[in-house]
Amino acid sequence: MKQKYITTDLVIIGAGLTGLTLAYLLRQNGMSIKIVEARSRLGGRIFTKGYDKQQPVEMGATWLGSQHTKLISLLHELGLSTFDQKIGSTAIYEAISTSPHFLANLPSNPDPSKRLQGGSQQIIHTLASYIAQDDILLNQPVISLSETNDAVDIITTDHTIQTKLVVSTLPPNLLTSSITITPALPAEIVQLTNATHTWMGESIKIVLSYAKPFWRAKHLSGTIMSNVGPIGEMYDHSNYEDSFYALKGFFSSNYYSISREERLAMIMTQLRKYFGDQATEYLSYEETVWRNEEYTFASYDSHVLPHQNNGHQAYQQSYMNGKLIIGGTETSTSYPGYMEGAVYNATSIAQRLLH
Ligand SMILES: Cc1cc2nc3c(=O)[nH]c(=O)nc-3n(C[C@H](O)[C@H](O)[C@H](O)COP(=O)(O)OP(=O)(O)OC[C@H]3O[C@@H](n4cnc5c(N)ncnc54)[C@H](O)[C@@H]3O)c2cc1C
Repeated sequence: MKQKYITTDLVIIGAGLTGLTLAYLLRQNGMSIKIVEARSRLGGRIFTKGYDKQQPVEMGATWLGSQHTKLISLLHELGLSTFDQKIGSTAIYEAISTSPHFLANLPSNPDPSKRLQGGSQQIIHTLASYIAQDDILLNQPVISLSETNDAVDIITTDHTIQTKLVVSTLPPNLLTSSITITPALPAEIVQLTNATHTWMGESIKIVLSYAKPFWRAKHLSGTIMSNVGPIGEMYDHSNYEDSFYALKGFFSSNYYSISREERLAMIMTQLRKYFGDQATEYLSYEETVWRNEEYTFASYDSHVLPHQNNGHQAYQQSYMNGKLIIGGTETSTSYPGYMEGAVYNATSIAQRLLH
């Protein structure tokens, strides 16, 4: 197919929370931008299934806390509301495989984690509504960035975009693993990106929906903590209106290469142990194996610890003679890895660009 040719002042790579917040802030100041997104959907690691049917199921980011002040201000500005995550006063606790699970009392929490009413996707959807549809190019994985005299040429699947400035919001490791950059970035930056952990990149999220919240009828809360697994944590994931009932958990990241059916069978074995046969009467099963998501995860050259190099000072500088900014939540100096980090990073970059 023939390449479409575009020239613009600023390209944001990635339509996740960082990219869309940055575009929203710059549009408010009259700047023209293009966003280039590899996936067919917006949101990146914010990925709510069923949010258009009031049955939001979070496969990615879910919770925020009162400490996430930049995110909370943005939610207020966009007219979005939160609600408390149900935790309950007891949790099923399984400490070791040789002892049975038991019901543990949970301490009361005066500051519970919050979820977005209608699903985390609401923030993505609302931010995107302030950006012209033509300015967001979906299904356009960036393949290469090449610096010319006073511009950068971006090649995607079927576009060539010439821009004065480019902001990447990809997880840094993914940026240098998947995009060819010419001239090459300094070796120490490539080493740094490769050793920068992509938050939750290895995680496996699972959600089961049910006709009734049977776990509450048994005076439980749906909260499960297990050192035995393969589900390590699980929570009530019913919607704000309490008209859609679900349990959501984290499945051991070791099992990324087995099949969906094998994971589901393991889930049923574990949940049947706690809840009996009712656990098997689910209406739907959803899972996302983030490690298998080519537009989130790239493998590392060596072992990397959670949050390693997140917010590193080298990410606060520009590259390609001032024409490339490496952004995204992992580069944030505040709450890197989290939604708060994405909003904080977008705000910092917007300030840099506007001043
Ligand atoms: C399972 C899971 C649970 C989480 N839970 C929480 C939570 O409870 N609370 C919390 O605060 N945070 C949580 N997070 C983290 C949160 O999702 C992230 O902090 C935030 O969404 C990151 O936004 P971002 O825009 O910086 O990056 P991303 O969302 O990763 O956005 C990057 C974008 O770039 C796109 N892209 C990739 N490659 C290319 C390419 N070559 N060309 C063009 N586009 C490309 C991607 O498709 C994506 O849309 C969770 C994440 C996951 C995966």
